[in-house]
Amino acid sequence: MQTLNGTALAKKIKSVLAIEIEYLVNKYRRSPKLCIIMAGDDPANSSYVKSKKKSCNEIGILCDLNILPYATSQQELLTLIDSLNQNTEVDGILVQLPLPKHIDQNVVLQSIDYKKDVDGLHPMNTGLLNSSTDALIPCTPKGILSLLKAEGVSITGKHCVIIGRSNLVGKPMAQLMLRENASVTVCHSKTRDLPYLTRQGEILIIAIGHPNLVNAEMLKEGAVVIDVGINSVEGKLVGDIYNSIDVNNIEKKAAAISPVPGGVGPMTIASLLENVVEIYKKRMCD
Ligand code: NAD
Repeated sequence: MQTLNGTALAKKIKSVLAIEIEYLVNKYRRSPKLCIIMAGDDPANSSYVKSKKKSCNEIGILCDLNILPYATSQQELLTLIDSLNQNTEVDGILVQLPLPKHIDQNVVLQSIDYKKDVDGLHPMNTGLLNSSTDALIPCTPKGILSLLKAEGVSITGKHCVIIGRSNLVGKPMAQLMLRENASVTVCHSKTRDLPYLTRQGEILIIAIGHPNLVNAEMLKEGAVVIDVGINSVEGKLVGDIYNSIDVNNIEKKAAAISPVPGGVGPMTIASLLENVVEIYKKRMCD
């Protein structure tokens, strides 16, 4: 069984980007800049935003972290986003989700200038993804597609089954796979007879957030399996399927699988960096 190594590919993408950024900074005399906004002090979120900042800095992207108190009002957040929208030195804006419960996530995401929307979650980018190739693509699906392509997985004509229909992963993933000429089935918590559908997946993408829900019995022989899940089990990071209790049977049945950690996670960060550079280049050429 082949392991789809996201760590190695992300490292390669980052070193290519670093060279490109050095060239662009010499040419335009300004570094690309990302602003990350986080409200509250959730430890998992804090560690995600710090690792995003570290990755930016490693390759020459400036990154401002705006960590706001949990009690920040929606209006305060919108005022900050408005000032970043207007700031000509800021290329990308990322609002770390989830936001505190008293803040309407949709209102906040829609307030970001869609041209600076590195996470690709603004409705304008969602619409562009559905109708053209000119969208900013959400980082996790974009990273998964890059990983599949780099590992030589052919997509055209394949049946791709996706478990999970979130705006962040499942829905944009479905659009991307359609664009790549796959036939796509999207499953979710209300899907009847999930195993019947998953057993048809030549490419199976699992983004649920529950370990051990999918087992070897539910796989098609020779399937390429992408594990998006991040779960903490007894203090250990596990995926939705990769390190599940049925791992031995899964390894016998699947042709390839993305590990957790080391699969989709690093590719998500690499795609974020690509999106910042893509926006920067568009803005400098306008
Ligand atoms: P989400 O909670 O928004 O969506 C989960 C989806 O799973 C829903 O669409 C739901 O319908 C479906 N689901 C839940 N129970 C199910 C069941 N029993 N049968 C079938 N479907 C079921 O989560 P999300 O934001 O899409 O993230 C999913 C997982 O991926 C989480 O573990 C998250 O931490 C992880 N994630 C990882 C990365 C990364 O970079 N590695 C990025 C984003 C999300």
